[in-house]
Amino acid sequence: NFNLAALVQEIFEQLELKAKQRHVTLELSPPELTTQPLMVLADRNRIRQVLVNLIDNAIKYGRAEGHVIVSLVESGKVVRVAVRDDGEGIAKQHQNRIFERFYRIDKSRSRDSGGSGLGLAISKHIVEAHKSVIRVRSEVGVGTTLEFKLPKPRAQKISTDEVSTSEA
Ligand code: ATP
Ligand code: MG
Repeated sequence: NFNLAALVQEIFEQLELKAKQRHVTLELSPPELTTQPLMVLADRNRIRQVLVNLIDNAIKYGRAEGHVIVSLVESGKVVRVAVRDDGEGIAKQHQNRIFERFYRIDKSRSRDSGGSGLGLAISKHIVEAHKSVIRVRSEVGVGTTLEFKLPKPRAQKISTDEVSTSEA
């Protein structure tokens, strides 16, 4: 179990410079999550790898001076994770192919941003290892959203330790 809201903020700090270079604003939604934990049941390091790639993509391929919004929404037993940008979007014919290894849409445009085209293939693999799916929703000229779901932790009993600590 780990706090997904805290992980996202850690990644924002890690990618802060890159975002600043493109004047991109990184936002966590809803804003309460900057102070409140949101726990999920998943492999923290692997999910970090997924989120670093999705947020890095949103910064690189999104709009300069745009906004990248990571939203975390609880729904039943899962948390829906969505990374959205307001960039030029991905045309329908590319939308499924971006998950293929080494697939990059605009070679000349993507080359100077220095990737290998593996990020989304690895991300898909990791999300599927968590028994979930990764989806893209995009509209040309409007922006792109990549999303997946993670399970919430199983209900836990409050330990007597925690009770006595909070009373102390
Ligand atoms: P790497 O992640 O290995 O550094 P990469 O970012 O180019 O390289 P992927 O993350 O797999 O590779 O993305 C594949 C391609 O999908 C990108 O090269 C880009 O063309 C397209 N793409 C990914 N995310 C977005 C986005 N948010 N908006 C527009 N195009 C995108
Ligand atoms: Mg990438």
